[in-house]
Amino acid sequence: MTVANQNVFPTMRRCTACGSLRFYPKPLCPACHDAKSEAAQVNGQGELYSFTVVHRAPTRELKAEAPYIIALVDLDEGVRVTGRLIMPEGRTPRCGDRVRLVAGGQSFAIFESIDREII
Ligand SMILES: [Zn+2]
Repeated sequence: MTVANQNVFPTMRRCTACGSLRFYPKPLCPACHDAKSEAAQVNGQGELYSFTVVHRAPTRELKAEAPYIIALVDLDEGVRVTGRLIMPEGRTPRCGDRVRLVAGGQSFAIFESIDREII
């Protein structure tokens, strides 16, 4: 997989009423349903909450990339994000692994593992 887009989370939004982060951008806050929000910075690091390995890609375009990992990541700022996870060759992810965002956009994210020792 080629990671070319370094424009990471340009549109992460924070609710101005309750402070909840939104990913992906939504017109209403999922916590309090307020419509107002502001731009918010995230450090892009978090913990792997869960993952699945996709062996049968749902589209022809993704078929060449299978098997690939879809992950749920809890960012340090408290929002759960769905994205792809890149692991070093020969290593498998474990829930609780530290990961960091390496690329993303308005509605997608790509993470990589950062701190687990090779066992
Ligand atoms: Zn809110």
